[in-house]
Amino acid sequence: MKSPSFQYSRAADVSDAFIQCSRPGTAFVAGGTDLLQLWKAGAIAPEGVVDISRLPLDAIEFTDGQLRLGALARLSDVATHPDVTRDHPLIAKAILASASGQIRNMATVGGNLLQRTRCPYFRTEGLACNKRTPGSGCGALSGENRQAALFGASTSCVATHASDLAVALTALDAEVEVFGAAGRRRFPLPDLYRLPAETPERETSLTAGELITGIHIPSASRFAARSTYLKVRDRASFEFAVVSVAAVLHVESGRIVEAGLAAGGVAPLPWRLTRSEAVLVGRAPDAQAIAAAGDMAVEHARPLAHNGFKIALLRNAVIRALQTIGSQP
Ligand code: SF4
Repeated sequence: MKSPSFQYSRAADVSDAFIQCSRPGTAFVAGGTDLLQLWKAGAIAPEGVVDISRLPLDAIEFTDGQLRLGALARLSDVATHPDVTRDHPLIAKAILASASGQIRNMATVGGNLLQRTRCPYFRTEGLACNKRTPGSGCGALSGENRQAALFGASTSCVATHASDLAVALTALDAEVEVFGAAGRRRFPLPDLYRLPAETPERETSLTAGELITGIHIPSASRFAARSTYLKVRDRASFEFAVVSVAAVLHVESGRIVEAGLAAGGVAPLPWRLTRSEAVLVGRAPDAQAIAAAGDMAVEHARPLAHNGFKIALLRNAVIRALQTIGSQP
């Protein structure tokens, strides 16, 4: 195989990174854990790579209960940070369920949120994939779709998003901070992602050259005693989710006053379970309320030929996660 030819440069600062990456065909690299896999699989072929790994964006800051994760913070550093494990254990649990220890030592928060789908058609040369080659068709739609989405898919693409961290951050109402042509802007994490519709190759709302600089997570100490990340996967280690559930509850005087629920492995983006959250609020975390939340989680699911098993899996995962944290003192 011929070695690819590309131009390598190092960004001097965030503004320089934006200017350099605004050029068509240019990609950021930080940890490189997904970029290099995609490159080797032929799914991308950048003409230029801008190294942002030395930018000062790796701080983990805790102010008045709010957490800010720099985009270049390493996953392993976030998962073991004392402020994170004390007040945001959901984040630590989701990260520790991700990848291997070696990958977590290299992978960054921003890169994890922007990782591409694990759909095998996307990552294999020569197969029909609208995301990889727009207009070539979707091989998974009528082919191997065991891992495909239950929600938010289109006839152009049925792929799921792979980040565990994004699921946890969605349940915690996190916001993304980015830098680009409009300067700095901040918006809810789910707005970072686009549903595939007719253009599955366009996966995020980022504009040319725009880079993630940080993640803001509101105070979550009220959830610390009742939070869990349940990941169902085909093997116990280093595997992506078939289905996952991030769940937090705030219970006062025996009643749920606030619930945060999101699912992974079931949609092209971290899927907020808003109807499940709504059905829980005001009730005791008992078997009836939890079963109702499980039922709501799978309402409007649209399975394909081989992924119908995910409906029961998601419902049961929601129930199991809520049973785990609902029964805690
Ligand atoms: Fe490609 Fe999406 Fe279809 Fe997978 S599901 S083959 S990523 S278009």
